[in-house]
Amino acid sequence: GGLHHAMKSRASGFCYINDPVIGIMKLLSRGKRVAYIDIDAHHGDGVQKAFYETNKVLTISLHESGYTLFPGTGFEYEIGEGEGEGYSVNLPFPHDTDDDGYVWAFEEVVPELIHTFQPDVVVTQLGVDTFYDDPLTNLQLSIFGYERVLKRIKDLAPRWVALGGGGYNISNVARAWTLAWSVMNGMELNEDLPESFFKEAEKVGIEERELRGNPRTPPHSLNEESREEIERVVGYIKKTIFPKVKR
Ligand SMILES: [Zn+2]
Repeated sequence: GGLHHAMKSRASGFCYINDPVIGIMKLLSRGKRVAYIDIDAHHGDGVQKAFYETNKVLTISLHESGYTLFPGTGFEYEIGEGEGEGYSVNLPFPHDTDDDGYVWAFEEVVPELIHTFQPDVVVTQLGVDTFYDDPLTNLQLSIFGYERVLKRIKDLAPRWVALGGGGYNISNVARAWTLAWSVMNGMELNEDLPESFFKEAEKVGIEERELRGNPRTPPHSLNEESREEIERVVGYIKKTIFPKVKR
């Protein structure tokens, strides 16, 4: 699941049915208050569009900037319209954003919004295409940054519906979603993957034999200009969106 690009009457970006939207609508029909957090490398444009004019759903998308990545939207000034003004939140990141820059921005923005909005349920799109070795994107995150974000979501969510998402390095997908499952269930898994797994995994080109592996230094690190850009976006959200979001 997590096919966040599909539009009401148009397929887009490998997505033909927007399961996050359908799931959220079901929750709304049961009177639930829903916050949606999208940590895929791509902007969650289909989900944003579905709830752009309502204050019943708070959508937060963290992604690589639309200047460098599909679908070319998700700028911080897309904040919703009408009653929905302030309930669409976008955190676009420069292409060289690493774990520390990403987690810093997440911490500055997401917990405050969730505490104010007080959802009954948090729906997440957990794409793993933010990793530095993903072939389709440019962000520089690692499984360690991903894990830090998941642990925070677990703290913040009263109920958690976890959906998949993008991820084009198959080893990252297998390992990061196993890790995500363990975080959701409060379990600490053995770092060594079982022998039975990597026998099968080798056939599809997975060479890693550990759940997280060694913390490798991504090829690009956050430069000063990008750091300032992240701080600017976070400042904009605090000034423009924080005062608009209500319980
Ligand atoms: Zn994606």
